[in-house]
Amino acid sequence: KSFDEFGLQPDILKGIYDIGFEEPSPIQIECIPAVLRGEDVIGQAQTGTGKTAAFGIPILDRIQTQVNQVQSIIITPTRELAIQVSEELRRLGRPGRIKTLPIYGGQSIGRQVKALEQGVHVVIGTPGRLLDHLRRGTLKVDAIEVIVLDEADEMLDMGFIEDIESVLRFVPTDRQLLLFSATMPPAIRQLANKYMRKPRYITI
Ligand code: AMP
Repeated sequence: KSFDEFGLQPDILKGIYDIGFEEPSPIQIECIPAVLRGEDVIGQAQTGTGKTAAFGIPILDRIQTQVNQVQSIIITPTRELAIQVSEELRRLGRPGRIKTLPIYGGQSIGRQVKALEQGVHVVIGTPGRLLDHLRRGTLKVDAIEVIVLDEADEMLDMGFIEDIESVLRFVPTDRQLLLFSATMPPAIRQLANKYMRKPRYITI
């Protein structure tokens, strides 16, 4: 299987090859077409499988760069993961001039507000700080089409479930929702049942 077979935009394909990926990993082979078709996806995958690019590539492919608004929110359990995901998407999206921004607690909110005002396409953040920006109106939801819950089981263990549900209630209901988790405890299944529409279950 080759990245050329997904029908991706030339800029995204260039980003993929520039970053040094040669072939899609198993989760990417399953996940990229499903996300491009607009399906909700539950991916049961560990770190190291290429899950970030599995959701990141089709999200970047669908970003309209001429629209200077946040079109996707990726929720991560930690600041480190937010930075890491943002950096990978920034590199993949570089030829396409896609702007990504990590936002997390502990960093000056004023600085984040300024960065958001500059125009960002994809925001990657921790639940509490994302919610803070949503409530302040500094993170606008009108153009949001895809939400990702990354390492959902970790977020659950860290007590972020309420914040995650609050974020989901903030965004338009016709959005696509992707959920990635190494394990599938009952609370994660419940979350999926409550907020996802006919999710495609991908496990590798
Ligand atoms: P992840 O599971 O998303 O944390 O990715 C693990 C590592 O694999 C990261 O350093 C990625 O940049 C890298 N990676 C992801 N997809 C591919 C691929 N198709 N080919 C080579 N490396 C990849």
